[in-house]
Amino acid sequence: MTPKIEQFLSHNRPASPCLVVDLDVIEQNHQLIANGLPEAALFYAVKANPAAPILDRLVGLGANFDAASLNEIEACLQAGAKPDHVSFGNTLKKAADIASAHRLGVDLFAFDSEGELDKLAAHAPGARVYCRILTENGNAEWPLSRKFGCEYEMAIDLMVMAQQRGLVPYGVSFHVGSQQIDPHQWDGAIERAARVFRGVSGKGINLEMLNLGGGFPARYREDILGFNNFSTAIRASLVRHFGANVPNLMIEPGRAIAASAGVLQAEVVLVSKKRADAERRWVYLDVGLFGGLAETLGEAIKYDIKTSRDGGATGPVAIAGPTCDSADILYEHTVYQLPLDLTSGDGVLIETAGAYTTTYASVGFNGFEPLREHHI
Ligand SMILES: *Cc1c(COP(=O)(O)O)cnc(C)c1O
Repeated sequence: MTPKIEQFLSHNRPASPCLVVDLDVIEQNHQLIANGLPEAALFYAVKANPAAPILDRLVGLGANFDAASLNEIEACLQAGAKPDHVSFGNTLKKAADIASAHRLGVDLFAFDSEGELDKLAAHAPGARVYCRILTENGNAEWPLSRKFGCEYEMAIDLMVMAQQRGLVPYGVSFHVGSQQIDPHQWDGAIERAARVFRGVSGKGINLEMLNLGGGFPARYREDILGFNNFSTAIRASLVRHFGANVPNLMIEPGRAIAASAGVLQAEVVLVSKKRADAERRWVYLDVGLFGGLAETLGEAIKYDIKTSRDGGATGPVAIAGPTCDSADILYEHTVYQLPLDLTSGDGVLIETAGAYTTTYASVGFNGFEPLREHHI
């Protein structure tokens, strides 16, 4: 937690639960990545946290934006981003949204299928398109595999079709999986992308751009490697697979920019046991799976949880949210230890919660409000 957030919480005593985002940390994270891989154009993945103050700050830093929907595109433009600094990066787009985005001046679109190319050719004629290829997503704590991307052989054929349909075959993208803790996971994807570049050049198409995606991790309970480990591994892979012909690069960090800027303040609603002599207690918080902590699904993201009673003896706990859905359990199998004297009303801080929380909160399941947010 930054001193600024600590001061905000102690002075303002905001109602619980809420997310507090320190915009200076957003800026620091942006600069760290932008300066760490200056040869790549940085497109912030808006879905990580689309709050207007964050977009405003990033526009001021000269960032570009990876948007997944028309609403996200409009939020970026509202913040002052130029349409040619926005990529429509979702491979699933309604025809009407493609047309609206194109009318707004967006000229860069992702796709991974012939059906999507047909829509793009009809509703964004002449636009630059890049094809997302499948990757392995090994070691990612929040994998994005299977659903997005096509086999690289198919990408070659799709690029030819794109040209035939009057689009500009522009590049290749992939995503190695979110919270990707292993810098070497980019290598296989870069190798496959290089095959696409070579495959289409044999058909007279010169691609210009390689989009390295997002995936760069944030620190939750475990330490992570510094960004320089990722940039070094990526550079080595680029040289290995593209030699002297490294294309223009894009990166789309989301989590690595937003996560560490936010702290979620919550409160203990109840501490109980399922049997009088049970060792493990159940700790119920006023925030859960439906209140913003959706990435605890499958206990994938393991948040670092601090309490107002830290320092004394601890014991094992299961941790759950406040709703009446029994799926609303954060951690039942992952080992969490919390203070033995933790009790109803105690404050809890969930660190590194700036990404993939606020917009994942339900609009009012069980009458619980969506997660409040403060940007300071
Ligand atoms: C979600 C997403 C990102 C951001 O991923 P992070 O792991 O948060 O960096 C980037 N690009 C695309 C296409 C995405 O869907």
